Amino acid sequence: MKTNVGSQKLSPDCLFCKILAGEIPANRVYEDEFCIGFPDINPQAPTHLLVIPKEHIASQAKALAEHKPLLGHLMSAVADLARMQKLDKGYRVVVNTGDEGGQTVQHLHLHLLGGRPMTWPPG
Ligand code: AMP
Ligand code: ZN
Repeated sequence: MKTNVGSQKLSPDCLFCKILAGEIPANRVYEDEFCIGFPDINPQAPTHLLVIPKEHIASQAKALAEHKPLLGHLMSAVADLARMQKLDKGYRVVVNTGDEGGQTVQHLHLHLLGGRPMTWPPG
């Protein structure tokens, strides 16, 4: 179930919606009208930030046609955030999706990882 909080469509049992609602603390290193960015609590690289939409979307697989502009915005916001973080040597953006994709929080999020060389293929 989604509830409207202001202009935000949040889900009451979702961890990242609780961050959006201010019920769970997070250091918002980035914020605009549509998304926020904050540090991952279990960083996998010197820079490891999460960017999440201000609307509850359970995963990339659950995004609808109406979300296309928002999905583009998120990619653009991550690029802005990477510039702000001075990840000039490069970085990786990861969107874990579903059980086999390794998704553990059911609210669409983009991982921004940087500050060390990345390996390929990912595990
Ligand atoms: P995923 O496994 O792709 O669903 O990513 C979820 C991420 O959320 C993991 O990397 C967790 O470390 C991170 N995480 C879980 N709880 C919090 C929290 N309260 N604040 C920041 N990051 C969190
Ligand atoms: Zn949510």
